[in-house]
Amino acid sequence: MTELERHAYDVVVIGAGGAGLRAAIEARQQGLRTAVVCKSLFGKAHTVMAEGGIAAAMGNVNSHDSWQVHFRDTMRGGKFLNNWRMAELHAKEAPDRVWELETYGALFDRTADGRISQRNFGGHEYPRLAHVGDRTGLELIRSLQQKIVSLQQEDHAETGDHESRLKVFAECTVTELLRDGDKVSGAFAYWRETGRFVLFEAPAVVLATGGIGKSFKVTSNSWEYTGDGHALALRTGASLINMEFVQFHPTGMVWPPSVKGILVTESVRGDGGVLRNSEGRRFMFDYIPEVFKDKYADNEAEADRWYTDPDNNRRPPELLPRDEVARAINSEVKAGRNSPHGGVFLDVSSRLPAEEIVRRLPSMHHQFKELADVDITKEPMEVGPTCHYVMGGVEVEPDTAASSVPGLFACGEVAGGMHGSNRLGGNSLSDLLVFGRRAGAGAAEYVRSLGDKRPVISESDVDGAAARAVDPFAEGGTGQQENPYTVHTQLQQTMNDLVGIIRRGGEVEQALTALEELKQRARNVVVEGHRQFNPGWHLAIDLRNMLLVSECVAKAALLRTESRGGHTREDHPRMDPDWRRQLLVCRAEGDGVSVTAKDQIPLREDLMALFEYSELQKYFTTGELAELPAKES
Ligand code: FAD
Repeated sequence: MTELERHAYDVVVIGAGGAGLRAAIEARQQGLRTAVVCKSLFGKAHTVMAEGGIAAAMGNVNSHDSWQVHFRDTMRGGKFLNNWRMAELHAKEAPDRVWELETYGALFDRTADGRISQRNFGGHEYPRLAHVGDRTGLELIRSLQQKIVSLQQEDHAETGDHESRLKVFAECTVTELLRDGDKVSGAFAYWRETGRFVLFEAPAVVLATGGIGKSFKVTSNSWEYTGDGHALALRTGASLINMEFVQFHPTGMVWPPSVKGILVTESVRGDGGVLRNSEGRRFMFDYIPEVFKDKYADNEAEADRWYTDPDNNRRPPELLPRDEVARAINSEVKAGRNSPHGGVFLDVSSRLPAEEIVRRLPSMHHQFKELADVDITKEPMEVGPTCHYVMGGVEVEPDTAASSVPGLFACGEVAGGMHGSNRLGGNSLSDLLVFGRRAGAGAAEYVRSLGDKRPVISESDVDGAAARAVDPFAEGGTGQQENPYTVHTQLQQTMNDLVGIIRRGGEVEQALTALEELKQRARNVVVEGHRQFNPGWHLAIDLRNMLLVSECVAKAALLRTESRGGHTREDHPRMDPDWRRQLLVCRAEGDGVSVTAKDQIPLREDLMALFEYSELQKYFTTGELAELPAKES
């Protein structure tokens, strides 16, 4: 029998970013004993890095805003592939979640008359992002943590133990989920510091583990983003959707090499920054796609007027959705009109007074000064696309965040559907809160429905999980021994070069062959030393997840023979209305994954009515259009 520490909870939340913390708060408030497990330090989740803000149609800066407009923008941004019910819930509930955050102690920047200030962002029709300078994620996490502490103080007053109903297990990595029959029964983990094993017995598990960016070489993501939750869900029998859609943020740093990929927030463009090529041209005017022509200015004078008179002018094309801007930058670089270090110029210095830049974008000012010795109040930045966000994730039931496996829930970046083929900036922080709360409530309801018939964990499953965890220490393999860092580097290069921002069928096939070889080599990975803080061992475990998730991305990217949002196929450059009706679903099969297509649920009639017929014509098949009740041109 494996020697380990055991804990029993009603709900175990894996991940302590915005989604995980909001889920945990909800489950605890509904009276359930809840654990939060996170592999990084408590407070150091990815959410902390969020800069620009949280999207919510509060209408504080432009009273024309409403949930309907936010819903429309989100569907447009996702090129109508979104799970419309998620987009509806998100648009309706985001304002309440922002207000609620202030009751937890957050303090957003204010308008002159004292309301929560909202800024412009790509793809959002009105100023919609509530923000705290360019450090919004930090304030979000700080206030969620503050709420957790206040709940723990209430518990202490009642039970004498701060952690009696809500406890955080930090620097603890979950490697496997356990099941009793088809139901989730708990999670197996190890402490990063000591390497000792921990078992969480729980009838409900909420995955809130974030994204997958560490499978790509150039990324804005930090070390935790190894697709653990995606892989855990697959191995437990749940399905993933939309994995071909990976967002490349248009503006990551390109220089110096040590910081390549670090994010340059979209707020720079939202607050007036413009993109120029080596010839000094504001090239985005050359890249306005047909579907957006009526919403974006086609000349500099109108684009500049929009900042002061948005009701009578169209938006600057620098604020097109991220997929469009990233592809445009990629094309400029490919055409040789690049900046000295292989990007393009992003200039705010000629657009705003220096003190205003420092006030609105303090982190960007600091980041460029410290890392690149560039003063953004005096000179332009050099930027280029960076792997930023995965739209794909665990297929969930929108209202409850339940996956197809009883007892398994998912929220935040690890869940799929909400953002369709491309996420709008600011829509992640609101997604975390809306669906974090719903996942906590869904898990609580599920646990209550079980009564005292709780699933149990078998000792043999625990022994199996422990054996798989220590496998990288065994030297008995027949092949050549491999180093986890080398395999990881090659995986990142493969995904960057062959399944990156612009994809071609032949190259994706090459990637799949390379991934098979890397999978084989990963089986021969051997790590030295012992289990006490051993980063090589940690990476060896994470590598399995990254390989599995990369296979999902590549297989789905090969199957989808169209270009849409975060999936661009150079050999299939058009958006195909028939493909909009299809979702690609990944499931575990053998030691890999299978990908199959399934029909998208048709958009509900009252939501369809929010769009002009002329807009639907750009996305829907002629058969679907023929069935619409009213047709105007
Ligand atoms: P995270 O906040 O990443 O939390 C994941 C948690 O899971 C962590 O606690 C991690 O330790 C834990 N974890 C992972 N694997 C395991 C495991 N195996 N065992 C235990 N724990 C595990 N979005 C916006 O809406 N607005 C913005 O302005 C914005 N700016 C951004 C800026 C940057 C630089 C980046 C990188 C992203 C930005 N985003 C923004 C996106 C947004 O921050 C993320 O999508 C979001 O924070 C994800 O939150 P989450 O709760 O799903 O995951």
